[in-house]
Amino acid sequence: MTFLEFLLTKLLGPARSSSGNGMSYWLCPVCGEDTFHTLPDNPQFRHRARCWNSKCGFRGDAADMLKEHFPEETYSDRLDRIAHLEKEWKASKARSRPGRGDMRSGASRC
Ligand SMILES: [Zn+2]
Repeated sequence: MTFLEFLLTKLLGPARSSSGNGMSYWLCPVCGEDTFHTLPDNPQFRHRARCWNSKCGFRGDAADMLKEHFPEETYSDRLDRIAHLEKEWKASKARSRPGRGDMRSGASRC
């Protein structure tokens, strides 16, 4: 799960479907259609999501998603929220990948 997918799961709930390469589908937070999804993840580019409903066309990165969801927040509130979510995302990734470097799983086996 990419950070953007993690963030959208927090905002919109679990993805309706997920293809595993960075693409996950949700109902669009703007128009409500099922045409909204994250784009395939390419490490060279900032991960973005967009809505393919031609009447809507909502698109953006993690900060834009938060802007849509919390329009009252300032830019610095948003950065704080992203930093906080990123920490949570990294922690959840560490938890879901047991084994290598995980001291606790080693200890419990002995
Ligand atoms: Zn839309």
